[in-house]
Amino acid sequence: MFGLIGHSTSFEDAKRKAMELGYDHIAEGDLDVWCSAPPQLVEHVEVVSPAGKTIQGAYIDSCFVPEMLSRFKTARRKVLNAMELAQKKGINITALGGFTSIIFENFNLLQHQHVRNTILEWERFTTGNTHTAWVICRQLELNAPALGIDLKKARVAVVGASGDIGSAVCRWLSNRTGVAELFLVARQQKPLLDLQEQLGGGKILSLSEALPEADIVVWVASMPRTLEIDKTKLRSPCLMIDGGYPKNLDSKLAGTGVHVLKGGIVEFCSDIGWSMMELAEMEKPQRQMFACFAEAMLLEFENCHTNFSWGRNNITLEKMDFIGEASIRHGFSTLNLQSHYQAAIA
Ligand code: NDP
Repeated sequence: MFGLIGHSTSFEDAKRKAMELGYDHIAEGDLDVWCSAPPQLVEHVEVVSPAGKTIQGAYIDSCFVPEMLSRFKTARRKVLNAMELAQKKGINITALGGFTSIIFENFNLLQHQHVRNTILEWERFTTGNTHTAWVICRQLELNAPALGIDLKKARVAVVGASGDIGSAVCRWLSNRTGVAELFLVARQQKPLLDLQEQLGGGKILSLSEALPEADIVVWVASMPRTLEIDKTKLRSPCLMIDGGYPKNLDSKLAGTGVHVLKGGIVEFCSDIGWSMMELAEMEKPQRQMFACFAEAMLLEFENCHTNFSWGRNNITLEKMDFIGEASIRHGFSTLNLQSHYQAAIA
């Protein structure tokens, strides 16, 4: 059985969803009430792969909302409680979706293996970042040529390059795709210098230096909503892959010559009878989902019950190959630019 741990995109959304599901007592509560609300297993689901295998899964809402991010202890408790529930339900492999994997890593939850009477078994959980990184690279490889961008001549900026997903994307682009130039963007210099050394290349630039130079920008950082970008300084065409969470670049940037694609999103080949992706405002919530969630499904399809994506900067090209091949075999495709580009992509 696979599991997905998620959360609503905002407190308002969470209240609305709780009302729909009949949890009126929680729905009507203020943020303090939600801070003490336990995680809920809200949905069971069955998924059939075109390769013939049927798997069962469950969605656990952690009852975390982004408004709780500044409440360190609450955020930590929400993630650990949801993981405990997944383990108690006997789920073999559970993906930590949305902010939950970031909370896990940034708040160093590895130190908190004991939750009440439960000792969390880390091999039951995955961040899903390997699949996310592979999906973003594939989206880049499929969609840039559709805009007339020649990958061999392309200058690619990775914003969040030193992060778990970003560093994997950089490794893939350097070793597999072979782009002309790679710009490494993040705030702290030391991890960028380490990455540059590992890659044997890449240029460290600030965001404002990188953006006007880049034909393709991969965003794999949670950027502040207040971020201002001068559209007039961007190249045309420019492919922006918005792989961060929340996905807020479209409204800021889309316009003539700038094409924003939601990054790290996959579509399954048939409808899945679930409602959980309505929370995430997917265009086709019956089929589309975050790639990190799909990783848990893929690991279940492949009978690979292990913490496949775990820790920071452990994503290898071989792991990306494995999860990418499984993704295609089990009926997932990447989200691509809309229909008028499809002919070019095909
Ligand atoms: P990490 O914490 O490992 O990395 C974040 C990276 O972003 C670091 O390089 C960090 O470096 C950089 N960064 C953070 N803030 C800024 C900023 N203001 N300006 C420039 N760089 C910044 O995160 P992950 O790799 O695990 O995740 C990256 C993003 O992908 C997150 O937003 C996450 O929510 C999203 N994600 C999407 C998934 C999907 O399925 N679509 C699945 C999983 C994650 P520094 O601190 O030095 O700036």
